[in-house]
Amino acid sequence: MKILVLPGDGIGPEVVDEAVKVLDFLFQKRRMKIEFEFELIGGASIDKYGVPIRDEVLEKAKNSDAILLGAVGGPKWDSLPIDRRPEAGLLKIRKALGLWANIRPIKIFPELSYISPLKNSDGIDFVVLRELTSDVYFGQPRGVFGDHALNTMIYRKEEVERIAHFAFEVALKRKKSVTSVDKANVLEVSSFWRKIVSEVAQKYPDVKLEHVYVDAMTYYIILNPQKFDVVLCPNLFGDIISDEAGGIIGSLGLCPSASLGSLNFGGGRIQGLYEPVHGSAPDIAGKSIANPIATLLSTSMLCEYSLGMKEEASLIETAIRDVLSEGFRTQDLVEKKSQGEKNKLQKGKRGKTKIKVVSTKEFGDAVVRSLKKLII
Ligand code: NAD
Repeated sequence: MKILVLPGDGIGPEVVDEAVKVLDFLFQKRRMKIEFEFELIGGASIDKYGVPIRDEVLEKAKNSDAILLGAVGGPKWDSLPIDRRPEAGLLKIRKALGLWANIRPIKIFPELSYISPLKNSDGIDFVVLRELTSDVYFGQPRGVFGDHALNTMIYRKEEVERIAHFAFEVALKRKKSVTSVDKANVLEVSSFWRKIVSEVAQKYPDVKLEHVYVDAMTYYIILNPQKFDVVLCPNLFGDIISDEAGGIIGSLGLCPSASLGSLNFGGGRIQGLYEPVHGSAPDIAGKSIANPIATLLSTSMLCEYSLGMKEEASLIETAIRDVLSEGFRTQDLVEKKSQGEKNKLQKGKRGKTKIKVVSTKEFGDAVVRSLKKLII
């Protein structure tokens, strides 16, 4: 098997290094022959080759079992035209691989509940599933026409059906509940979406389906996030809802994601692109203080979906949790609160755990140490 690694820019290479270290350890332990290939994307590729991603790299991506990506972008490239910026590399690779489903788990580690802006963050554990290839972002016609501008919101039946199936399949493996987000009281496209999702639901009698308007959804996510399991969103609403959902767990450094282009939950392997939700964080790049958890959790998803290594996927999560229980934290996980709160944290919410602020690399090393103990 082959994994294409695209570290990208800013903190991308720093967090990806830790993810590769963890994967490498697991593959050696399991005596698995998995090849890593490293390539450039984003600003790094622009600097060397003049383009955000080369066709050759797109070909390599197509021929890989999984792609692990760090992040792209930074002020150095901000003045370039949109189609030559680092972010264009991301769009190109998603398109080339035909990725239409973006999965973003929103889960809070109990050890980190203090970092959530919500008073009660215990038990938050849901998944935002966003359709990636259609909606107002891709509908034609679009443009600015003299005195008016136009974008077209569109969904085709097959696009709604495949993402709805995906949502129900994911729900079957979780708490068996799907919340479909739309604006069916105002938009025809949303009524259509609602109708198709309801039709697909007939095939999944064990899964509970509810429809929620997007405006109400933004409210419920803050008020009662514990109630959700799988949140199914069209592209535009998913873009907004998934960022809001990321906000309630307190740090971008904790949010992983997977983008997939096929539906195969029968235990087989599917190709996917795995990346942390955060960007290249130029403000902290090069300081070795970036939080690698989002990328490590993305590799856990990579193991589960693309390599069929379910046990190893959950081992990665357990190892991260162990490291947090031992008191290891990157900078972003201790500085959110006032000094008073910080002292409270230093005493430790769980027994007498002493908080140790560590570098990106030290956190990754601690995860490998924990895995060594877990794998006998
Ligand atoms: P960002 O996610 O890079 O950073 C926002 C804030 O979160 C910063 O203060 C940063 O220090 C912090 N942060 C992010 N990840 C962190 C981590 N792992 N550990 C600790 N702190 C972390 O968003 P931004 O500043 O708006 O964007 C910076 C660049 O990244 C831009 O060029 C943007 O276009 C790009 N970007 C890329 C992606 C991607 O590659 N998928 C996503 C979003 C933004």
